[in-house]
Amino acid sequence: MATEFRFCPICATPLQSIHRYDRVRLGCPACGFVHFADPKVAVIALVIADGAVLLVRRAVDPGKGLWSLPGGYMDAGEMPAEALQREVREEVGLAIDVGEMSAIFPMQNGAGKRVGIVLAFRAQPSGLNRQVYAQDDVSEAGWFGPRQIPPDLAFDSTKTLIAEWARSEENAETDT
Ligand SMILES: [Zn+2]
Repeated sequence: MATEFRFCPICATPLQSIHRYDRVRLGCPACGFVHFADPKVAVIALVIADGAVLLVRRAVDPGKGLWSLPGGYMDAGEMPAEALQREVREEVGLAIDVGEMSAIFPMQNGAGKRVGIVLAFRAQPSGLNRQVYAQDDVSEAGWFGPRQIPPDLAFDSTKTLIAEWARSEENAETDT
C-alpha cells in the first residue's frame, strides 16, 4: 500500500531523489517541487459510559476483523475533537463529548515503519443515548465491561489503553 510517488504532482515530470533540508527526498528536476513525507495523524477515543468502553470491529485493514477503539485519520483543517466526533458518528452513529488527551502513540505502517502519530482522547456520549450501529468501515460495535473485553484486539494503542482502563476499573471495584 505504501507506494512512493513516481511523478511530480504539479508537472508530471519523473521525480528524482534529491538532498534537501538534511534528508534525501523526492524532488522534481523541472519545477522544483519537493515531496515532504508529512506525518500522518490519527485520533482514537476511549469512550466510556456506565462502566463500559466502546469498541468497534474493523471491517477494513489494517486490523481487519479485530476489535479496536473507534477513530481514524484527521482531515486537513480539522481539530482533533472534531475529527473524533466525525469518526465516531460515521462508525457507530453516536454523538460524543471529547475530553482530555490521554496519550500519544507512534503510528506504524504494515512494515513496522513509523509514519505518524496517534492521539488518544477520553470521551463520553453527548446525551443519554448509548445505542451504536456498525457502519462505514466497522462490522460490529458494542459496549464492554472491564471483564468482557474481547481477546482479539488490534493495535498496540488500543491494547495499552484498554489494559490501563480495565486495571483502573477493577482497582476501583476492589476499593469500594
Ligand atoms: Zn514538477
